[in-house]
Amino acid sequence: MVELAQRLHQVRGSITSECEKLGRPEPTLIVVTKNHSVELAAELLKLGETEFGENRVQEALAKSQELELAVPGNSVNWNLIGQLQTNKVKQALQFAASIHSLDRISLLDELAKRTLERSVPLDVFVQLNLTDDEGRGGVPKHELLSFAAKVMEVPTLRLRGVMAVATLEAEPERDFEVVAKLSAALRREIPQADQLSIGMSGDYLVALSYGATHLRIGTAITGNRTY
Ligand SMILES: *Cc1c(COP(=O)(O)O)cnc(C)c1O
Repeated sequence: MVELAQRLHQVRGSITSECEKLGRPEPTLIVVTKNHSVELAAELLKLGETEFGENRVQEALAKSQELELAVPGNSVNWNLIGQLQTNKVKQALQFAASIHSLDRISLLDELAKRTLERSVPLDVFVQLNLTDDEGRGGVPKHELLSFAAKVMEVPTLRLRGVMAVATLEAEPERDFEVVAKLSAALRREIPQADQLSIGMSGDYLVALSYGATHLRIGTAITGNRTY
């Protein structure tokens, strides 16, 4: 696992130097462990990483439970970054510290129902759809503020901000500029929702210059995923 440590070191180093260059604070690094083993997660934990990202509920639940057996009482926060079906919400709440993919009313309603008994609110990000294709995941851009207002009505959810994935067709700069503007508009209405989850292996340094507070980095750290 020397390579893992080296890649992590390289990515963390490039984040630090970019942040210094931009004169901005360091973001939260979420290492995306999807399609990787619990052994890799354990290795990352040993290297000091505690924020992991997963996109499938069943895989993530199993992995989090296995890691808990291997390293009891570990301090990992599991971030759900993939689309969440309403019938998987109950399972998701067994492991997720944060959900980055809140993208529709039916999911909001289900989360509200299933978190009723919680004493600590669940962290959520509203996922934006940057395309004009309604079939893609995410809230349409023009509905962000009204959707966020509805999230705020649920006391057991803590709205952190916006999440987005740059579209493949466009330059990431163009997408991130749109997201940064929408995030600023959201912040004006809801000051607490000031976090921005953008930036993956291919565009995380660009994301930093658009105000990313959470980077979701997989392959640049973990190597290629095994499907
Ligand atoms: C897989 C995934 C990532 C990480 O992608 P890499 O290109 O491997 O860094 C980030 N965000 C989401 C939503 C993902 O599904």
